[in-house]
Amino acid sequence: TLALSHSLCLAADLHIELNKEVKKKPDTSSLLFGKSFSDHMLTVEWSEEKGWGSPHIKPFQNLSLHPASSALHYSIELFDGMKAFRGEDNKIWMFRPMLNMERMHRAALRACLPSFDKSELLECIRKLIEVDQEWVPYSTAASLYIRPTFIGTEPSLGVMKPNYALLYVIIGPVGPYFSSGSFNPVSLLADPSFVRAWIGGVGDCKMGGNYGPTIFVQSEAAKKGCQQVLWLYGEDHQVTEVGTMNIFFYWINEQGEEELLTPPLDGTILPGVTRQSLLDLARKWGKFKVSERKFTMKELLKGLQENRVQEVFGAGTACVVCPVNRILYQGQNHYIPTMDNGPDLAKKFLKELTDIQYGRCASDWTHLV
Ligand code: PMP
Repeated sequence: TLALSHSLCLAADLHIELNKEVKKKPDTSSLLFGKSFSDHMLTVEWSEEKGWGSPHIKPFQNLSLHPASSALHYSIELFDGMKAFRGEDNKIWMFRPMLNMERMHRAALRACLPSFDKSELLECIRKLIEVDQEWVPYSTAASLYIRPTFIGTEPSLGVMKPNYALLYVIIGPVGPYFSSGSFNPVSLLADPSFVRAWIGGVGDCKMGGNYGPTIFVQSEAAKKGCQQVLWLYGEDHQVTEVGTMNIFFYWINEQGEEELLTPPLDGTILPGVTRQSLLDLARKWGKFKVSERKFTMKELLKGLQENRVQEVFGAGTACVVCPVNRILYQGQNHYIPTMDNGPDLAKKFLKELTDIQYGRCASDWTHLV
C-alpha cells in the first residue's frame, strides 16, 4: 500500500514539477562518467519532528544548505550507484535495484540517518527515470547512471545524530566503460601501507568518507605507472578490493581444483551487486568451485609462479568486469595472464550480465521502468 505514513517516504504522494527548459542531450559517444545530468531530480526531506515529507520530482537544481550541515563537516553522508538500460525493444530496465535499496538502507542505519521504505524509494526512482526517459541512451553500449544520495542536514556543529536529513537522487547518461569495444586490462598498485577499510569500520557501506581518502592513493598508483589500487589488509596482505570494484580470481587452487574466488563479506568489503550476480551465475552453472574466502598476496604469487592463475578481474556496476594484467607489489611487477586466457570466464560473465541488463534474455533480476 502507498498510504501516507510518518516513517516512510511515499511514492503515492509524489509531487512532480516539470522542467520548462530541457537541456540538449550529449552525444553518447563522448560521455564522461558523472559529468552529464538529466533535467530532473528527486528530493525528499526528513526531520525528527515531522518524519518524511512528500517526495518531489523537480527541475535539476542546486541545493541550498546551512553551512554547518552535518554532511559537510562529519561526512554524515551515503550514496549508492546503479544503472538503467534501454533494450532493443525500447523498454527500460533496472538491474536488481532492490539490492541497491537494501545496501543503502543498511548504510542509512549505520550513519544514524532515518529508515525509509525501500520499495517506496525504488518506486520514486522509477518515476524519476520515467519522467527523464529520453535521457536513457538509445544504445546498448551506454546506460543511465542513477545516484541516490542521503545526507545529514542538521544545522549545528555538534557531533550527533541528525534531526534533519535530505534524500535525493540525480541521474545522467554514461558511456561504455571500454570505449574500444573490447576489454582494456588494468594495472594495479598493491601497497600495504594504505588501507581502504578495516574490521569494525564501515567499508561495507557506501559512505562518502570511504572514498575521498582513496584519491591520494590513486594518485600514488598513477605516479608509479599503475591505473588502479589493489587494496590490501592485515599483516598477511589479504587482497580485498580493486579501486571501486570487488575482485575475483579464477585459478587452479592448491588442491588442484578449478576455483572462482572472491573475498568474503567480513565488513571490509562493499557488497557489490555485480559481485553477488557473478557468484549467483557461477553457482547456477555449477561448472567449478565457487568460494568466498580470504586470499593473500602470498597465495596469489605462489599461484602465479606455478602457472595456476588464469584470470583476475574487478567486478562493478561501471564496467561489469575489468581484467587485470599486472600487479606492482613490494617494488616488483607481477604479470597476470588474464588476457592470454581469453579471458574466457570474464567474457562469459560480461555477455551473460549484459544480455540480462539490456533485456535480451528474460530474467527475474530485471525491473521494468
Ligand atoms: N567495491 C567498492 C568499494 C565500490 O565502491 C563498488 C561500487 N559500488 C563496488 C565494489 C562494486 O559494487 P557494485 O557491483 O554494486 O557496483
